[in-house]
Amino acid sequence: MPSSLCEALTNSSISFDYQKEDDWITSGKLGSREAVLVFRTNILNPKIRKTLSEKSSAQVLTDTKDNEEKPVQSPQKLAEEEPTSSEPSSKEALSGSTQQKIFLLKKPQQCDKSDKLTFSSPFKKILNRYSSSDTSISSEGEEPANSSENKSRVLKTSQNAINIKLATDLSNESGYESIAPAKTISNTEVIEEDQEETSEDDAECGINMPASKLKITYKFHQTETKLLRKLFNVHGLTEVQGENNNFNLLWTGVHMKLDIVRNLAPYQRVNHFPRSYEMTRKDRLYKNIERMQHLRGMKHFDIVPQTFVLPIESRDLVVAHNKHRGPWIVKPAASSRGRGIFIVNSPDQIPQDEQAVVSKYIVDPLCIDGHKCDLRVYVLVTSFDPLIIYLYEEGIVRLATVKYDRHADNLWNPCMHLCNYSINKYHSDYIRSSDAQDEDVGHKWTLSALLRHLKLQSCDTRQLMLNIEDLIIKAVLACAQSIISACRMFVPNGNNCFELYGFDILIDNALKPWLLEINLSPSMGVDSPLDTKVKSCLMADLLTCVGIPAYSPEMKSHYDQKWSRFRSSSCQRIATFPSTSQKTKKSKKKGAAINLNLTGEEQRILRNARLQYSRRGGFVRIFPTDDSMQRYGNFLDSANGIPISTPNVQSQTFQTPIIQHNYNQMLHQNLYSKDGRQKQDDNNEADRIWQYERALETDSEIPFVKKPTVEKCEVEGRRLRKIMLKKISNGSELTPFQARQTFSMYLESVLRRLTEDPKDNHEKIILKFLNKFGGSVKPPVMFRNMQTIKVASKARSAMVAKLLGDFLENYKRDTEAYVDSFDHFGMIPSSAYNQFLMHAQESDLEAVLTLHTNVTGIMPFLYNRCGLSVPPTPPIPSGLHGFLRALPSMVSSTGINRELSKYDGYFKNFDKEKVFL
Ligand code: ADP
Repeated sequence: MPSSLCEALTNSSISFDYQKEDDWITSGKLGSREAVLVFRTNILNPKIRKTLSEKSSAQVLTDTKDNEEKPVQSPQKLAEEEPTSSEPSSKEALSGSTQQKIFLLKKPQQCDKSDKLTFSSPFKKILNRYSSSDTSISSEGEEPANSSENKSRVLKTSQNAINIKLATDLSNESGYESIAPAKTISNTEVIEEDQEETSEDDAECGINMPASKLKITYKFHQTETKLLRKLFNVHGLTEVQGENNNFNLLWTGVHMKLDIVRNLAPYQRVNHFPRSYEMTRKDRLYKNIERMQHLRGMKHFDIVPQTFVLPIESRDLVVAHNKHRGPWIVKPAASSRGRGIFIVNSPDQIPQDEQAVVSKYIVDPLCIDGHKCDLRVYVLVTSFDPLIIYLYEEGIVRLATVKYDRHADNLWNPCMHLCNYSINKYHSDYIRSSDAQDEDVGHKWTLSALLRHLKLQSCDTRQLMLNIEDLIIKAVLACAQSIISACRMFVPNGNNCFELYGFDILIDNALKPWLLEINLSPSMGVDSPLDTKVKSCLMADLLTCVGIPAYSPEMKSHYDQKWSRFRSSSCQRIATFPSTSQKTKKSKKKGAAINLNLTGEEQRILRNARLQYSRRGGFVRIFPTDDSMQRYGNFLDSANGIPISTPNVQSQTFQTPIIQHNYNQMLHQNLYSKDGRQKQDDNNEADRIWQYERALETDSEIPFVKKPTVEKCEVEGRRLRKIMLKKISNGSELTPFQARQTFSMYLESVLRRLTEDPKDNHEKIILKFLNKFGGSVKPPVMFRNMQTIKVASKARSAMVAKLLGDFLENYKRDTEAYVDSFDHFGMIPSSAYNQFLMHAQESDLEAVLTLHTNVTGIMPFLYNRCGLSVPPTPPIPSGLHGFLRALPSMVSSTGINRELSKYDGYFKNFDKEKVFL
């Protein structure tokens, strides 16, 4: 079967231009089981695409491979039970194994002496990076053959990059926004800005890609990541929708449904592990780490601020407070982006019924130029057993807009104490860097820029990064046990799942990192060229590293058939483990140059780990490393290598009737033992630290384009308003959908106005409205009583704007559930109304909402007709902002029950049953 499958591929009607495909396929020949797609950021730039497609692939390969002089040893074949076509040579594994990126040490003079001693030239480090990535599979850790050749290659690449940059600069469509405080927010910028929409040009570029010819598909579920969509489209992947589960990659914003996980074929990939909420839910994370503190000792797991889950642990909180006084930071249990967070000096300031996670507030954070900052680093786990963790070399540093002052009087100020972009962006002093090269400008920096900055101040950045690696590994170890057991129960194939976690880390002024939380599906929204650069590289490297199999439809159907046969006999991956006798037999049969004692599954794991490492791009593998067993071996069960976090369960939990294995041990031994094939100094500490400190450069600019804003015509708006008012006076009504659209556009205008020109009394009105409205955007305690914040300030305006922004986001999401697919009798025709909305200004929207409310006596933008607790319509004062003044009285004192809207005839989405893990 293997050979015929291969023939089917090569002779099929799909005609390939192999020379080009080599650039976009790696780890194996097209048609082999290991071949995976390569993703690059440079083709996000339309101008580069052309150059790239014209450049002969032979030339590209020469650029990439010329320096590989080391003869290639063919990687070992895998276990027999699955078809293996031609084995990849190292050259194949190399092609496209890295992003076409160059890495510049931006400020070489900043390297301290010891660095210079270790790495005589920055170019040597670049060379090391290529060599470590390129030779890890086949050349068994040999030094690159010719360093001068490598040097010149790097120089050449840099020069190319400069030329390309110049060319793009000259013809730049000026997609970058200028340095602008948040007050420039326009109609379409209220929500965190994102990459431009996918253009036809993207799709056209994709047509020529192997992924398109191979019909590789992706599916989004409950997420909309434009950056990712764009990457998929330019690389030729096609989207599947609805109930179609014939995807190669499923990207979901939420945890996955059980039945989807259970039925994954070997070539399918999903971006979550089952039960990873053990890491990503604040309360679960703290509990898991706390357990490890008890089991393994506080000194080993002192990585999170002391935390309590309310209301259950209210008494413990009080006891802790009496021992060591506050302040405490209170976070709603299921919330993100700084929503609902407040800081108190003492637990009695927290409302009794609050369901929250309360942590010791770290009062002495690391500050940059007086501003508190925290880190978002990106952690990729490709397997929990064995544990394989990568940390992306670049991260984001978020700065608070207001200078830090630990005095208790300032605890209310979110723009001083919270570093979330989603809060600080509303502050009128917030500065975005407008150039991707400016990594230490404004209120968002890169991690490498922070490290270089700290190094200049003689801080021990090496120790800082080692401590961050340690914190990440320990957090994963603390949560892994339950995820591993879920994987064993539900995930059918070893490579099906991977997950990118967003770790939020606060560094205190003694440079100790503290884990604040781990984000499921970290935001890929981009609001600046810097963001675009980091996140595009991150995503492209992630997709290449995890490896989306480059399978043709024929290969897929072969696996599907094989898979359904397999599933009918067993549904557990564990059942495929061979017995000890099988082990020897197989090893003999294969010649097993890797290790005679490895089972087929172990060989697969080892081989995958090596191939994946060769494709890691900017990811730094932090587990396993050469000393990982020495450092973390004690936290793993001695028999099966599983991180154990529950006392007394030990290895029994994971014993199988078939065979006991210890994948962590096996992998470490084979990668790092003397005769292991990974070179001893590869992925070593010095290399990793160097990688974190260098600046990330792409070889072409990645366009950051704002959505085009539609120019509104004021005169036309006024003309259409007159028509709408006349219709309403004559008895026409707005549909609930139209009313909600009008209301959200109106509030958007208010938000924009308040951000540009704060008005004390308008802020108070908005807060009162939101407070009464309730739900997830209820203002935090400090804001519920306006007396606590007496002085109107930029920070208060920012907080009100943030709350209104959050409200609008939810409101607009709810509005999407309403339909207006046809015109209703007695209602305003939708086409005419849309015209009005296109040009309406705040006053036009207000006039329509006011008249409609006064004439009809209903408030369809907040309540449906048959709502049970609809309050009477309040009288709306005439004149400018009358509607705004009446707003708080439109909400009943019991708030608004969002569930009620489901009874509305226009509501289209009823909750479908969701079965989440
Ligand atoms: P969210 O998920 O809502 O963003 P985080 O836990 O990330 O919540 O916290 C939001 C912000 O609050 C962080 O940016 C950080 O600056 C600050 N913060 C959170 N926990 C602490 C703490 N224990 N000590 C000091 N600051 C904290």
